[in-house]
Amino acid sequence: MRAVQVNEAGGPEVLTVVDVDDPTPGAGEVLVDVAAAGVNYIDTYQRQGIYPMDLPYIAGMEGAGRVSALGEGVTDVAVGDRIAWSETLGSYAEKVAVPVDKSVPVPDGVPDDAAVGALLQGMTAHFLVTDTFPLGGGETVLVHAAAGGVGLLLTQMASARGARVIATVSTAEKEQLARGAGAAEVIRYTEVDDLAAAVRELTGGTGVDAAYDSVGKTTFDASLASLRKRGMLVLYGAASGPVPAVDPQRLNSAGSVFLTRPKLFDHIDTTEELRTRAAAVYSAVADGTLDVRIGHRYPLEQARTAHEDLQGRRTTGKLLLTP
Ligand code: NDP
Repeated sequence: MRAVQVNEAGGPEVLTVVDVDDPTPGAGEVLVDVAAAGVNYIDTYQRQGIYPMDLPYIAGMEGAGRVSALGEGVTDVAVGDRIAWSETLGSYAEKVAVPVDKSVPVPDGVPDDAAVGALLQGMTAHFLVTDTFPLGGGETVLVHAAAGGVGLLLTQMASARGARVIATVSTAEKEQLARGAGAAEVIRYTEVDDLAAAVRELTGGTGVDAAYDSVGKTTFDASLASLRKRGMLVLYGAASGPVPAVDPQRLNSAGSVFLTRPKLFDHIDTTEELRTRAAAVYSAVADGTLDVRIGHRYPLEQARTAHEDLQGRRTTGKLLLTP
């Protein structure tokens, strides 16, 4: 089969298409014909060695497709079933061996593209608004990179829960998408000198209840300065680079605020939690309340371009690789 392999840590150019043997599903695994693989920021961190990896490896964590063979002991999934996954390295490939306990069933009302587009990024948006800083209505929140993969889903989910979303984006096209997803206010953060002052102006000087920050290095200080007293900074990514060490005293000076750095994998820790969370997201896709925007589809051979576009801020919504 064809797959995208990383032989050494580095830039997008290290993504190489190779011919390798088809994987063999082990005990508790199923073999899947991949319909679409998801491109996620974590793939770029792994490729660069920010998250150390055993080399060589086949890239990609996420995908959806149809089961073509069963490993030993698999009884709850059948050949022909549609499944999706977000924690199986080796997903930029024509076939993947997926552990059943890390897979979710894809309902009939959810097409393959949306099944991938809503899984890793959708479950991330979901835990952010249900667990990390639960929204129940009436809150004002800041959502950075609101036209991105997570950003568009997070903006929709926060708005649907009754929060007023102040979104940040870099371009006019992205502004339109953020507004379409429900953002009440949009700030082009690349064009303002003082982002926190702009947020304060939109909140009558009070600040936001929570800032969901996936950009990291370049937005962290402004996010902290945008919070109301006892608000929460939810730092969940580092698209612009990692945030330097923070003196806890800064949380005191900012108004007894909270800082957290959550990750998805701690919120889909058991098969039950994974499937419950995925089902909640997929049901919103199926009933039309959650729109999954596929920003671009790339053939496997263009994995490098996909990473360049993602890190070059040229993308919106979800990026897919199709074998
Ligand atoms: P996005 O589609 O959101 O792409 C990243 C966006 O970040 C860009 O489009 C850009 O939007 C913005 N950005 C701002 N500054 C920069 C910069 N210097 N370089 C690149 N991008 C920049 O990606 P994803 O939806 O895949 O992921 C979003 C973030 O969420 C990532 O940081 C990722 O690590 C994190 N994440 C965290 C998870 C967790 O469990 N904690 C799980 C999933 C994702 P604009 O042009 O509008 O500024």
